[in-house]
Amino acid sequence: MSQDSSTQRRGKPPHHWSEMSSDERQELLQQWRLPSYRLGQLLRHYFERYSADPLSWTDLPASARESVRTAFPVLLEPVAQTLADRGKTVKNLYRLFDGVLVESVVMRYSRGEGTRSTLCISSQAGCGIGCPFCATGQLGLQRNLTVGEICEQVRLAVVDLGSAGAKAKLNNVVFMGMGEPLANYDTVMSAIRRITSESPHGFGITARGVTVSTAGIVPRIADLAGEGLPLTLAISLHAPDDELREKLVPLNKRWGVGDVLDAARDYFRTTSRRVSIEYALMKGVNDQVWRAELLAKKLNALGRGWVHVNVIPLNPTPGSPWQPSTRQVTTDFMAILDGARIPVTLRDSRGQDIDGGCGQLAGRQTWVEP
Ligand code: SAH
Ligand code: SF4
Repeated sequence: MSQDSSTQRRGKPPHHWSEMSSDERQELLQQWRLPSYRLGQLLRHYFERYSADPLSWTDLPASARESVRTAFPVLLEPVAQTLADRGKTVKNLYRLFDGVLVESVVMRYSRGEGTRSTLCISSQAGCGIGCPFCATGQLGLQRNLTVGEICEQVRLAVVDLGSAGAKAKLNNVVFMGMGEPLANYDTVMSAIRRITSESPHGFGITARGVTVSTAGIVPRIADLAGEGLPLTLAISLHAPDDELREKLVPLNKRWGVGDVLDAARDYFRTTSRRVSIEYALMKGVNDQVWRAELLAKKLNALGRGWVHVNVIPLNPTPGSPWQPSTRQVTTDFMAILDGARIPVTLRDSRGQDIDGGCGQLAGRQTWVEP
């Protein structure tokens, strides 16, 4: 970690247009002496054209541009960008107003004719849950991000995709960057509403394309189910038994495997969205045959068709004793789940070599600046 605490400021991040309520936006228009029809114009610039620079908005009266600019402060200052997989994976490091660093990762996939892209964003700087195999967990919680800071990660990623020559289209947004999204629940939900609302009120990304990944804050999983949005829920389980899970995901001392799986099953019942169980395979730790069998048994006990397992090859973090399982052990583990008729996939481990894989984000500035 190389966060320079001397540059950190206290206080709240500046209030940004993207996070304002419609009343707040109307009030500002009045202050700026702009008629209310200008509202749609401003919304379209931001949510449809991904522009946050009012000085370039020539359809606005020149006299108003400076005032409008005050509602579009720079929230994320790009510090560095690293590329992997022949430019198809891009990691962005941003500095926030108080000097805190956060990261996001964009992954592009060629599929048939078109290109699809997934953005992995952060909901907090650092994380307070403290899973020992996760680089973000080693930072501790620095602070929650704001709605504007989350929206800006999305906007900047789309701008980047556009300049990379690809169609500026983002298909999926996953909260699998830094932080525990359900520990910053209200903010994450407001951001999700802006991400999924039809343009010009939001970025218009389908709710099915948005994944919230959690270490298992049970009451918030129930809240999420009640939001009326078909979001994808991912549960970071990593072990089917409490004894091991308490070590891997310390939150398990509060809500055990049984509680978390029940909440996940209820999420499916309410939303009809199949839940994803994340399982990062760690050599000699959680990859035994008996654990695969126990996982299958516990999932099947709650019914069929409600869940699938996403096996993640562990991304080793610097100096960590946790290592990925061998290919053979991974195949065997997956075969047991498959044999128990549980759909199982292996996540491709994009961006590992730039520390851009899941669990590797730590806001370290160890690479060459662009
Ligand atoms: N805090 C949330 C979301 C961010 S972590 C959560 O834990 O779900 C995103 C995913 O990366 C989680 O599934 C997490 O368990 C996983 N992860 C963390 N460290 C990892 C590592 N070193 N290798 C592979 N996956 C990791
Ligand atoms: Fe936090 Fe998720 Fe990392 Fe655990 S895995 S420390 S919950 S970011």
